[in-house]
Amino acid sequence: MSAHAPAPVRVRAPGKINVFLEVGDVADDGYHEVATAYQAVSLYEEVTATAADGITIEIAGTSTVDVEGVPTDERNLAVRAARLLARVAGVEQGAHLSVHKAVPVAGGMGGGSADAAAALVACDALWGIGMPTAELARLAAQLGADVPFALLGGTAVGTGRGDELSPALASGRFDWVLVPNDVGLSTPVVYGELDAHRERHAVDIGPAPRVPAVDPDVLHAIRQGDARMLAATVRNDLQAPALHLRPDLARVLERGERAGALAGLVSGSGPTLAFLAADETAAIDLQVTLSAAGHHAVRVHGPVAGARVV
Ligand code: ATP
Repeated sequence: MSAHAPAPVRVRAPGKINVFLEVGDVADDGYHEVATAYQAVSLYEEVTATAADGITIEIAGTSTVDVEGVPTDERNLAVRAARLLARVAGVEQGAHLSVHKAVPVAGGMGGGSADAAAALVACDALWGIGMPTAELARLAAQLGADVPFALLGGTAVGTGRGDELSPALASGRFDWVLVPNDVGLSTPVVYGELDAHRERHAVDIGPAPRVPAVDPDVLHAIRQGDARMLAATVRNDLQAPALHLRPDLARVLERGERAGALAGLVSGSGPTLAFLAADETAAIDLQVTLSAAGHHAVRVHGPVAGARVV
């Protein structure tokens, strides 16, 4: 490396909880339209980009995150992000990406998407590109439905195929207790289970919503910063199929709700469970109760900022 190599750039990007997720009918190409309200929470992925030849990656995790199954080749979303940026910006430099994961893998919290968003921001700075945010967001959307949100952070509504994103107003803070699970759930498998479930129960549950939309009451609760109001409106269409695939999660959900959570829900496609607490003190109590029952329970709050250089 030359003496003029740029200094390494460290970026952190948050995981997310979908506080509302409505899934429309499956299209002919297998995709689903969705309408979701995202909240970025204080569980962060960190990506450090260092000047190097080519694009390489190494992955580590906090003691409770199993990074074993995460690919370290061009299938990794962070590698794809760096390559896409280099190609679009016509950059010839390379980068070594050192990823530190705190978001559970295949946990429904968008960890891979956060890595991709962090890699875009880190490489943009490392290579001195200075790409406008709107342009970075366009690249993010090409990488995956949840990547633009990891870039933006805060609270936002995602519609279409998850690729249309608009920021939403929020006030105050929401306290959550997360219960991650050692065994991940594959997002496509959960969507497949949802389709099968809807097919089996077509008579009782009627057709899927044609154009899914976020319940305005959810956005109202977030604007008010009112946890009780939010608890009454959270909903995730992927919860039923996730619980069908993993009946053990239903018992944990019940336990959390009995232990004082205002609401419990499966985060995204699961299997991470997210319990909404009335406030920070209630979240501490809930964490203690769930830990005593043998669950790994993590306290986070939201909304927090998107991918940022630290
Ligand atoms: P989402 O909520 O966005 O559906 P998730 O949080 O359930 O995603 P991720 O941890 O983002 O799931 O990744 C799911 C799969 O994607 C992993 O099993 C892994 O094979 C692959 N993958 C690719 N890049 C990454 C990455 N940087 N980190 C984690 N997984 C990655």
